Amino acid sequence: LGNDSSVDDLGNISVVVRVRPLSEREIQRNDDTIIQVVSHEQIMMRPDVKPNGQSALSGAQSTFNQTLTAKTFTFNSVFDQTATQSEMMDKSGVGRVIAMAMEGYSTTVFCYGQTGSGKTHTLTGPPHLDKPDPFSEEHGLIYRAFVHLFDRLKENTKSDCTYIIKASFLEIYNEKVIDLLNLSTFKKPLQVRWSRASGGFYVENLFTVECEEFDDLLAVLEEGMRNRAVGSHGMNDYSSRSHTILTVHVISELQASEEGVYLSRHGKINFVDLAGSEMTKKTNSQGKTLEEANNINKSLMVLGYCISQLSDPRKRNGHIPYRDSKLTQLLSDSLAGNGITLMVACVSPARSNLSETLNTLRYAARAK
Ligand code: ADP
Ligand code: MG
Repeated sequence: LGNDSSVDDLGNISVVVRVRPLSEREIQRNDDTIIQVVSHEQIMMRPDVKPNGQSALSGAQSTFNQTLTAKTFTFNSVFDQTATQSEMMDKSGVGRVIAMAMEGYSTTVFCYGQTGSGKTHTLTGPPHLDKPDPFSEEHGLIYRAFVHLFDRLKENTKSDCTYIIKASFLEIYNEKVIDLLNLSTFKKPLQVRWSRASGGFYVENLFTVECEEFDDLLAVLEEGMRNRAVGSHGMNDYSSRSHTILTVHVISELQASEEGVYLSRHGKINFVDLAGSEMTKKTNSQGKTLEEANNINKSLMVLGYCISQLSDPRKRNGHIPYRDSKLTQLLSDSLAGNGITLMVACVSPARSNLSETLNTLRYAARAK
């Protein structure tokens, strides 16, 4: 068996994989599962065997032998078809990300994978959760992280530390930054600027809401999703081409001494639902203007490049081209040395998605 990767020393970027169940349609088409979760850290691709035990290497398919060999990948955690939303919350490392944000770190949780692999399901849950039952098992990582964050804040009321929570929600479409809390920006996108004062990138005039309660944070999520549906005018494959970033700022003030010296820390968590990874190859597809074709997933390609540079110890301290895309500008502080990034790679188990799944696993394996 080819061993494509092993992840030992992950540094500040950790990678987990989630395999979604076969869909009804895939089952009806007799699509078969080529993914086996071998252990909590290992995933195996077995395109070489059919479920009935027969070899898949015979006949017409033999020309694809190259892609039909079994491969094993190792990650921080691997979740199979049966993993629930609450298991994702408890075991993927999101809790640690929240704890780090409360200590003042910049953090990111992003979902990567082809369209239909479960990114939005993992982050947000199914779309019908408009009037959500707070105890629904279907809630995704974002809702659960909000609950977890406010639980932690309540535990903290006895300490000298006071917290302020703020949130914003934006979308990057065709290298344009749209404020999902402000519909007028669909026509007039916002600018990304460099702040010399904070040494980081920020979005000028982005609407940022102070959230005193859990419900305020939830309202940001719901308002943003509603506006996104309105602003995109139901445009075909809009959601698979755009990236959304919901940012929760955690600002804390700590009274360091009796004389009243305050330490202020500013942490944040970006929840990022990326464009479909298949888009990186579709930039030459027909019917698009050159600008659109160049931009359509520049952000996704640059992100992959930045992450692979950062995961190479010899290149980590060299020049990382964050400036080459809007997405990497906005995530730069959490990708760089002092930040924390959790990548959730989402894959389909179906044979029909073999090459996209292999691409995703390779991309994820490179992110170590
Ligand atoms: P993406 O955002 O990557 O395009 P979605 O999250 O929209 O993909 O998922 C595609 C479909 O598969 C949706 O109908 C979704 O509800 C379903 N799905 C994805 N992941 C799971 C899962 N882990 N369990 C059950 N259904 C899932
Ligand atoms: Mg989606």
